[in-house]
Amino acid sequence: MAVKVTKFGGSSLASAEQILKMKKIVEADEARKFVVPSAPGKRFKDDVKVTDLLYSLHDAASHFEETEEIYRQIVRRYTDIRDELGLSIKIEDYLEKVYEDIKTGANEDYAASRGEYLNGLLIADLLGYDFIDAADVIFFDENGGYDAKKTLSILPGALKLHERAVVPGFYGSLPNGKIRTFSRGGSDITGSIVARAANADLYENWTDVSGFMMADPRIVEDPKKIDVVTYRELRELAYMGATVLHEDSIFPVLEAAIPINVKNTNDPENSGTMIIPAVEGRGEADGITGIAGKKNFTVITIEKDGMNTEIGFGRKVLTCLEKFGLSFEHMPTSIDTISIVVADVRIRHCIEELIDEIHAVCQPDSVEVSSNMAIIATVGRGMIRQVGVSAKLFAALADSHVNVRMIDQGSSEINIIVGVENDDFEKAVKAIYNALV
Ligand code: ASP
Repeated sequence: MAVKVTKFGGSSLASAEQILKMKKIVEADEARKFVVPSAPGKRFKDDVKVTDLLYSLHDAASHFEETEEIYRQIVRRYTDIRDELGLSIKIEDYLEKVYEDIKTGANEDYAASRGEYLNGLLIADLLGYDFIDAADVIFFDENGGYDAKKTLSILPGALKLHERAVVPGFYGSLPNGKIRTFSRGGSDITGSIVARAANADLYENWTDVSGFMMADPRIVEDPKKIDVVTYRELRELAYMGATVLHEDSIFPVLEAAIPINVKNTNDPENSGTMIIPAVEGRGEADGITGIAGKKNFTVITIEKDGMNTEIGFGRKVLTCLEKFGLSFEHMPTSIDTISIVVADVRIRHCIEELIDEIHAVCQPDSVEVSSNMAIIATVGRGMIRQVGVSAKLFAALADSHVNVRMIDQGSSEINIIVGVENDDFEKAVKAIYNALV
């Protein structure tokens, strides 16, 4: 029988009403054997997520400040959910233990993780599923990094012992037994790890939007939804700022080629976005998959006549970056120039020293620095061996009077990167969308 791992985000579990939607979804498909919940999120715009309340509680406790009011808010969130769902689990007992632990010095990660832990208990009770504490099956190493090897040696066997189970998201344990969390939004990663360990046919990620949009809706009005995207394309788009899923949640399922379906708890009939492993060439795709971008990059352009014949020039440039501990985003080149694109925040503190170093080591004819640049990635496997996509893109930018400061196209042909002035960013994204979608 097929196995699906279903992860529900905080907004999908923010109230009893939302949790009942989750229940309906889980019960509609026998294959939904493993459920990974987040902590209760916001019920309305100015509401506070339980995770944030727990961070505040920990902060207040560690500074010996007043904690009662914050604790009462957390208790209310869980008891309201419990009572409205008509459950009889004594969640107060668990809450009191958490409060006691935090007041007696439990670490911050422990406090934050209790949001998913307590929610997992309630949800397991509601669904009649077993509860598996993530601390017993998901592991981190002594440096705090996710320990895939240890986790995958224990979690698959643990899941096999349960017909159906809830595994709370966001946390696991360190070698010394202490709780450690992933970065914020990390329940997505837990879902992916559980999907991998269960060898699932599908990892469903339920949230409050119907998947990924082809462009940022704050820039393009009512953009189209992305129906299918490959892991590779998503990495490009996510890195450039398209967020729905935690960036790192792709890696655990990548190896096992398990598809991820991002779906909307408030609109379960909508097919959402399907994230699939690589396809041959462009597969069924036609046109572009999405557009994403970020502001605030610095471009350093190094010019030297005869650069193309000087062996080791590129290495010398990269050695300079390495000396200052800098990684770069893009490196477009021409016969006599190399441009290096680095995020403003990373380079700001050392830009002058870096330029001096480049002059000393590379002996260039000139080095030019321009900051306040935005980078826009137009991504799509549908562009592979398609004629005319970039022509349309650049014509659209020219028609909108956007000056293109940099161009880079990876040889994989799945993206075209352009650099424009920060001020032209929104205009450029709109122009590309209107021309290519
Ligand atoms: N509750 C955690 C957070 O707010 C983790 C998650 O929801 O994925 O970041």
